[in-house]
Amino acid sequence: MGNTAWCKCGKCIPMPTRDESCCCTEIQDVAHYFEGDVICITTVDDMLDMCMEENRLDFIRCSCRYSRAAYSRDRNRILRKASYQAFSTWAHSYLELGNRIPIPSCMVDLIRKKFPDNQQHYVGFFWSSDYPAIDMAFDF
Ligand SMILES: [Zn+2]
Ligand SMILES: [Zn+2]
Repeated sequence: MGNTAWCKCGKCIPMPTRDESCCCTEIQDVAHYFEGDVICITTVDDMLDMCMEENRLDFIRCSCRYSRAAYSRDRNRILRKASYQAFSTWAHSYLELGNRIPIPSCMVDLIRKKFPDNQQHYVGFFWSSDYPAIDMAFDF
């Protein structure tokens, strides 16, 4: 915690809790992507296509949980959540309840940079409106 000594891919960021201090190289389900030049999951094209494309992530808006107003106000936060969910689904093929696998911190960093918080408020390593990525991903 507070450092990235546990990271083997070189792209992870320090996370506030041990649970979140997870490197993509620890995730067995994506191990087959690590070949050739790929040393971090954040550089896998297939993942970028499935988890980072806004028009794909739009599914979350269609799930009727968000009003138009909420969506325009909290757009990036909602997209981050969609992205975490997409990653979980992509990495593990399906979401297994009760068997939550953390989202690697390099992914969390990538997603937060792509969909930054409107207010840009940091509290420690946290973004103001975010709770741990793993909880966001599984909060349907
Ligand atoms: Zn890492
Ligand atoms: Zn990584």
